[in-house]
Amino acid sequence: MSQAFDLSGKVAIVTGGNGGIGLGMATGLAQAGAALLIAGRNAAKNVAAVKALEALGAKASAVQADVTDQAACRMLIEATQTTYGRLDILVNNAGTNIRKQPQEYTLDEWKSVLDTNLTSAFLCSQAAYPAMLTAGGGKIINIGSMLSIFGAAFAGPYGASKGGMVQLTKSLACAWAKDNIQVNAVLPGWIDTDLTRRARQDVPGLHERVLARTPAGRWGEPGDFAGIAVFLASSAADFVTGAAIAVDGGYSSQG
Ligand code: NDP
Repeated sequence: MSQAFDLSGKVAIVTGGNGGIGLGMATGLAQAGAALLIAGRNAAKNVAAVKALEALGAKASAVQADVTDQAACRMLIEATQTTYGRLDILVNNAGTNIRKQPQEYTLDEWKSVLDTNLTSAFLCSQAAYPAMLTAGGGKIINIGSMLSIFGAAFAGPYGASKGGMVQLTKSLACAWAKDNIQVNAVLPGWIDTDLTRRARQDVPGLHERVLARTPAGRWGEPGDFAGIAVFLASSAADFVTGAAIAVDGGYSSQG
């Protein structure tokens, strides 16, 4: 592997890294040499993800944490430093959706989507900042969505959170460039995960519409996110900050 993409000696946190896109990214980071700390609420999924990463020869551990809780976000960073002695990479990937028409959401539902998708990224980044300063720099990767760009009738809170994620990314990038911390967003297209398996059941015709609209002619897979994670986490991306990069099989390029 080119030295520019080598993550040996680096330590990464992936929120929601116990499955789907998060595990796809964690796998790429592990294969490039990083040690991983996975954060998720489901203990059984956490254990399975750690086993899968260890099977690649990586150092991996998991913390059961709900990233909507500020104390849990702080604890995650502390646990990483206690376990590995440093923190270099934070992937803010944990996410959820509640699909309804805008007039049907309760305030609690709105808050739950915003807290899980957006506030968590702010809280984890804020908590990670001192550790990254100590490490001499860092990389933050925020997971947006096609709904960072487009609207959808069934995704008011989700779209607000994912649009906000892009703007949060830009603000953090501007604030922390002087500290050698690069902050970028990745905007996935339609990816086959637990999240979208539920959407395919809830939204009639979605599967076919995604295939028709995606120039690559397929749904994405979690493994499609290994490369972008390694690139944005590595010194190859030291001059890339504040960007929002679509990994979508061309979905957002199709008129
Ligand atoms: P998954 O449902 O497989 O992954 C979501 C992850 O987030 C799980 O690991 C889950 O773990 C974790 N999570 C959810 N809530 C919390 C919480 N409160 N605290 C800690 N962890 C939490 O779906 P995806 O892999 O598809 O989603 C990953 C990200 O990608 C999300 O941000 C999603 O919005 C985004 N995305 C996905 C797309 C797709 O097509 N799949 C498209 C665009 C964006 P646990 O349940 O154990 O807590």
